[in-house]
Amino acid sequence: MINKKYYIENYGCQMNISDSEIICSILDNEGFIKTENFKKANIILINTCSIREKSEQKILLRINQLKFLKKKNNNIIIGILGCLAQNFKKKILKINNIINLVLGPDSYREIPSLIRKIYNKSYKYINTFFSKNETYADILPKRDKNKITAFVTIMRGCDNMCTFCVVPFTRGREKSRDPHSIIKECEFLFKKGYKEIILLGQNVDSYLWYGGGLKKNFKKSKIKNERIINFSNLLELVAISVPFMRIRFCTSNPNDMSYKVLNIIKKYKNICKHIHLPVQSGSNKILSLMNRKHTREDYILLINKINKILPNCSISCDIITGFCNEYEYDHNETLNLMKLVKYNFSYMFIYSHRIGTYAYKHLIDNVSLEIKKRRLKEIISLQRKHSYFRLSKSIGNIQEILIEGISKKNINFFYGRNSKNDIVIFPKKKFKIGDFLKVKINNCTSATLIGDLLNEKYYL
Ligand code: SF4
Repeated sequence: MINKKYYIENYGCQMNISDSEIICSILDNEGFIKTENFKKANIILINTCSIREKSEQKILLRINQLKFLKKKNNNIIIGILGCLAQNFKKKILKINNIINLVLGPDSYREIPSLIRKIYNKSYKYINTFFSKNETYADILPKRDKNKITAFVTIMRGCDNMCTFCVVPFTRGREKSRDPHSIIKECEFLFKKGYKEIILLGQNVDSYLWYGGGLKKNFKKSKIKNERIINFSNLLELVAISVPFMRIRFCTSNPNDMSYKVLNIIKKYKNICKHIHLPVQSGSNKILSLMNRKHTREDYILLINKINKILPNCSISCDIITGFCNEYEYDHNETLNLMKLVKYNFSYMFIYSHRIGTYAYKHLIDNVSLEIKKRRLKEIISLQRKHSYFRLSKSIGNIQEILIEGISKKNINFFYGRNSKNDIVIFPKKKFKIGDFLKVKINNCTSATLIGDLLNEKYYL
């Protein structure tokens, strides 16, 4: 009899966490049982990420560490799933011969049947074909209990072909999920007690559905064409469908973000006032080499529009430093753009070639590591100043916070987030995780707001 205990390890971004929840759902529906202890599992699945060199190295090291399990029990099935599997394909079997299963992001439905085939035989299976329409829309992800926030994937893949990015090759072309299934899932999450939804996609602004037939909540919205649903329409439908939940979304692309989205964010109180808007570089030359399809000027125009329509909206960003042919002038352009926008928060990285991308094939990674590190240091130091500047503006304000958990640094404190996605810590009182409360902000660091709970709940 097949031993159905499985363990899943997750690397990378929110999309991967969401995918792992889908994989768990597929397996549980077929009678497999999840364990949190990999030593007790007979099936070990590693859901991988290939976006950064560091995460790739970490995963390859982890696979190597698992060799001892295979030595002890040759029946153990080891599967590599997700972006690294898609990118490395057969190569991964050559790197390490303990692997039985290599599946790309569109092949998760096959996992139970392949495990059955492999069991007790030393077969190896690879499937990295892309599907034109796989969105896993009918699968309800299996989420951890007692969570406050749930990820809901609305689209998969990306058509943008930024020259540094592996996503179009590991996740394929853009595919939008049926809005009926998205709204049904959001309503289900509300009934289950979740308080916040994060709508996920590699490029949420490209969401587009031609299916039609949306009756529920449609009249309440101002959507004119029922047959074509774009991201601003979907955001509005979700906001109306779950009015007592907070809604966030990620990731936006400056090239695709419409003003209509900004107006929908403004219109609904339950849509959080935060936009993650990666720019990657402040230099037009580098943006063009990256094939970002927008200029520094386009980006600034969009930022001005956000500030005008949503004056209290926070803006965060991704920045890559040391891309091919980045000179000191280009780096300074990035610093100057940061000074102009004063991001609330940024994810900042050193550039490294990713196998398979245009940049890997056609551009030279010609900025030395020493220079990349120095530039990154300057970017991080500037971002710290801006984060502190943004957070300090909240001191003295009363803010609406969703309590998310107990602070890791001090168990006598709760932590939560305001609408702008700032982390707020405050002394624990009689309230509980999941409550929406008002907090008076008294102080801050460059990463956190510090406040006091007022004895007052608030309602969305
Ligand atoms: S928009 Fe560019 S960076 Fe973002 S996922 Fe698509 S190709 Fe990658």
